[in-house]
Amino acid sequence: MDLILLNGKFETMNSLNPRAEAVAIVKGKFYKVGSNEEVLQLKSSDTKIIDLKGNMVVPGFNDSHMHLAMFGSNLLECDLVGTESVDDIIERMQDFIQKNKIEPGRWVTGKGWNEDYFNIRMLPTRYDLDKISTEHNICLTRACYHTCVVNSKGLETAGVTKDNVQIEGGRFEVDEKGVPIGICREKALKYIYSKLPSYNVEDIKKMIRSASDCAVSKGLTSIQTDDFMLPGVEFEQILEAYKELHDSGELKVRIYEQCLLPTMDKLQHFLEKGCRTGEGDEYFKFGPLKLLADGSLGPRTAYLREPYADQPSTSGIPAYSQDGLNEIVKKAHDAGMQIAVHCIGDKAMYMVFEAFENACVQNPRKDPRHTVVHCQITDEILLDKFREDNVVATIQPIFLNYDLHMAEGRIGKERVKTSYNWKSLFDRGVHVACGSDCPVEPFDVLPGIYAAVTRKDLKGYPENGWLPEQKLSVYQALYGFTLGSAYASFEENIKGSIEEGKLADMAVLSDDIYQIEPDKIKDVEVMMTFVNGKLVYKK
Ligand SMILES: [Zn+2]
Repeated sequence: MDLILLNGKFETMNSLNPRAEAVAIVKGKFYKVGSNEEVLQLKSSDTKIIDLKGNMVVPGFNDSHMHLAMFGSNLLECDLVGTESVDDIIERMQDFIQKNKIEPGRWVTGKGWNEDYFNIRMLPTRYDLDKISTEHNICLTRACYHTCVVNSKGLETAGVTKDNVQIEGGRFEVDEKGVPIGICREKALKYIYSKLPSYNVEDIKKMIRSASDCAVSKGLTSIQTDDFMLPGVEFEQILEAYKELHDSGELKVRIYEQCLLPTMDKLQHFLEKGCRTGEGDEYFKFGPLKLLADGSLGPRTAYLREPYADQPSTSGIPAYSQDGLNEIVKKAHDAGMQIAVHCIGDKAMYMVFEAFENACVQNPRKDPRHTVVHCQITDEILLDKFREDNVVATIQPIFLNYDLHMAEGRIGKERVKTSYNWKSLFDRGVHVACGSDCPVEPFDVLPGIYAAVTRKDLKGYPENGWLPEQKLSVYQALYGFTLGSAYASFEENIKGSIEEGKLADMAVLSDDIYQIEPDKIKDVEVMMTFVNGKLVYKK
């Protein structure tokens, strides 16, 4: 045996052998899962032994939807998370420009602000950002990634003027004279991003390395990541970066790439290269075609069946027409791809189910595991459709930390009752996979489990939880972050549980999350992380 772990409290997630004290690992896989005595019998002279001293061990966490390279790229940008006013943003940006000695004429980007946390709940405009600098191009992206604000110099550089202010599928906000005020939504944001200087493969490798180091320190061993959205970067560069890291043995976490290819041209190009879902190995695999069907709830761009309760003039913004969505889904489906679509609004979800059903009726495929990512605003019919169509639901429990304060305002009391209904999905037998959508939210898993189990924000509000009948059990939440996510990538036979023959990926926790108060789960620490039987992180 290469490695034996003793004296642990293993939650194996294997119903045939749910609890164990020890495991023996050989060649990156579990060889034996059992009692201390059983496992110790397999010890040989060169076996490394680790005493877990009674700590809880769970299968390595698997984030079913996030953006690993984007998270890494944030480490190169000004972090605006936690800003409480426009003045805060101005101060942080000025410091950032000074500290990094960024020359005039260059782009400076920042991310993570959210005006809902400001003392005055107003979006900043170009004129606010001009106070940071009139000589740098500045683009600051809202925490939702669907809205950004650009200063006057940046608008000028990007060629956004009074005369060409509108763009299909997006919006440059204008004042009463039709002059753009710097707020750019959806495709307008994409347009601005296309003007930003791009990263090269070395930059991308750097981002993935630092993001992966951070991920393993949180017990994550598998990541389903949507990376093709990196501004100014071709998807081939992302794939090249992963390939080079893989070839040099530097890939620390297992990657399932959710391939964002929003147009027929891009999808065609990708398919012509021969890429398909499931190709690759245990460290890097091509995942689904990833699409976005709408925006998000905060800025009211999630696409709803009925108008927003707090702004009846809008129902959100769909990214596709029904025909356009049907066409791209069918093309990918026919090519053998899994398809995962971002849907936050109920109307967007109806459109996506229709596109899935259309493709599956015309060309029935065994077990395509098409997926809806986010699944926030639902009704009973949609909840049933997940089961009927066998569509995977990818959810982000940590979203509750923010959304429980905002959702009811956006959609009203009635619609909210059947929304964020994750326990209802479990009860229906839907395949649920958990994640974080990092960097929208941090990818720490324990706060995610806490949110799913308590339905509270990180400050413990509300006392009895928000829509408390939708609380998941600790087991269900853990399932979502391990076996449920493994199912979402067709890998439930090789990972997601501590089981003989499976990949030896594990996280050792500071506390037993079944025993402690649910409120304390968010503070539980990851003590060690193992990937492929190797210790990759130790606190
Ligand atoms: Zn996302």
